[in-house]
Amino acid sequence: MSDCIFCKIVKGDIPSTNVFRDEQVTAFRDINPAAPTHILIVPNKHIDSVNVLISDDEPLMGHLFIVAKQLAAREKIDEDGYRLIVNTGVYAGQTVHHIHLHLLGGAPMKHPMG
Ligand code: 5GP
Ligand code: ZN
Repeated sequence: MSDCIFCKIVKGDIPSTNVFRDEQVTAFRDINPAAPTHILIVPNKHIDSVNVLISDDEPLMGHLFIVAKQLAAREKIDEDGYRLIVNTGVYAGQTVHHIHLHLLGGAPMKHPMG
């Protein structure tokens, strides 16, 4: 998707603070962090949202969580706890339409679910 900001980050066309990359996913720090650690983990291929996932995407989605777990340990937020969020659609506040997993931690969460 040529006009997708996360596709551009994956391709290196716009700058980002990358913390992990492999053949399936790229992880980088959120430009407007909502917690001391706020990392976005995105598939390297464009997928709009959870709404359009297909069964072939199952291993890729599982991999996002494995990378999140590894990054939580690397950031030393794993023992105190962290939150993983996938916003989907307007009501959830999805602003970038390239599926992404937010990894948030480093301080107690101020907001309950919803
Ligand atoms: P959403 O609201 O779609 O779940 O989350 C999108 C996230 O992407 C937001 O937290 C926002 O701060 C982040 N973001 C938007 N544009 C950029 C960018 O150009 N670079 C980085 N690193 N993060 C971005
Ligand atoms: Zn994209």
